[in-house]
Amino acid sequence: MTSIHNKVPFFDLNRLFLEQKAELETAALRALNSGWYILGSEGASFESAVEKFLGSTNSFIGCNSGTDALVLAMLAAGVTDGDEVIAPSHTAIPTISAIRQVGAVPKFADIDSETWLISEAEVFSQLTPKTRAVIAVHLYGNMVNIPALRSGLDRLGRSDVVIIEDVAQAFDSRWIGIQAGTFGDFGAFSFYPTKNLGALGDSGGVSTKNSAMKARIVAIKNYGQIQRYNAELTSGMNSRLDEVQAAILQKRLLRMNEWKVRKDRLVKIYRENLVGLGFKFQKVADECDPHWHLCVIKCPDGTSRDSIQSKLKELGVETLIHYPIPTHLQKAFQDFSRKLPVTECLAPQILSLPMNPCTTDSEVSYTIESLKTVLVNQR
Ligand SMILES: *Cc1c(COP(=O)(O)O)cnc(C)c1O
Repeated sequence: MTSIHNKVPFFDLNRLFLEQKAELETAALRALNSGWYILGSEGASFESAVEKFLGSTNSFIGCNSGTDALVLAMLAAGVTDGDEVIAPSHTAIPTISAIRQVGAVPKFADIDSETWLISEAEVFSQLTPKTRAVIAVHLYGNMVNIPALRSGLDRLGRSDVVIIEDVAQAFDSRWIGIQAGTFGDFGAFSFYPTKNLGALGDSGGVSTKNSAMKARIVAIKNYGQIQRYNAELTSGMNSRLDEVQAAILQKRLLRMNEWKVRKDRLVKIYRENLVGLGFKFQKVADECDPHWHLCVIKCPDGTSRDSIQSKLKELGVETLIHYPIPTHLQKAFQDFSRKLPVTECLAPQILSLPMNPCTTDSEVSYTIESLKTVLVNQR
């Protein structure tokens, strides 16, 4: 049997590498030749470049992954065994793994049916005296209204509840022109290769305005070695951003705006052509200017997402599903499950289309034409 050639790959990471091959190789070699591989000048330069990019008073601390960034934020905030952390179920598994890793209990919140983001009302309904934090996930690049969430919690007398923005999918998204990850008590970033800002390996980081929290994160990520602020904190780990990745990330950070503009265009073309066919897209608030990580459509009622996906595959269009099984229905988290109607209704209908800085206009056109063909046969 011949393998099906993908006419339109979901995300060809090599294409993105080749775009910047020379400068990325130079950057990596600079780090290799420096003789200093952990916590050196490349990491420090990258951290200050991100701080400048975020354009606020936030500090940025590099670490090993987005998962670790969430863990570090929670550990710094003192989230511990038995505490409760509210999070959407409709997110990547690591959002919830991180909660379990610090020994806390995930309290699943349903999403808004239009924005597909954590619902404020759901967050408020899950508050208990044990609630220590809310993880607001800026899913696919679309942003949660963090100022509204903060003032809502404050109004309920819960200024003690920490807000952690999961910015893994929304690096460079903006709310009234201000960067994602600067609104909450913490922003947790991932630079996994496919993310908006992607390394050539694992890496991530945490942002915070609070200098005491910064000091705790700096200590915890490096075996807990600087114990000035919390001697009882036994949660030291090794989660450092290595020099080679930091060198590469500095080069890629310079491309953010160019890639945002390209992806904006592609999403716009998808929207213009697919809404009329009955596909739905995430609602974006007027205040939000997303840097899209994924272009996710909701298939029309009465159609089968799985059959649309397999027919697209036959036509050579590679799609993915983010995410096929909501986290509250995962075996690992079944003890904390409860019914979440909006999430459970959305999950079987969503499909992620090819959309990244290297996707060409003709690939988008082919994907749209293929969706039209597939849809005719569905009805
Ligand atoms: C990718 C991702 C993470 C985890 O990031 P890693 O760098 O892979 O650990 C966390 N949350 C969300 C929403 C993500 O998409």
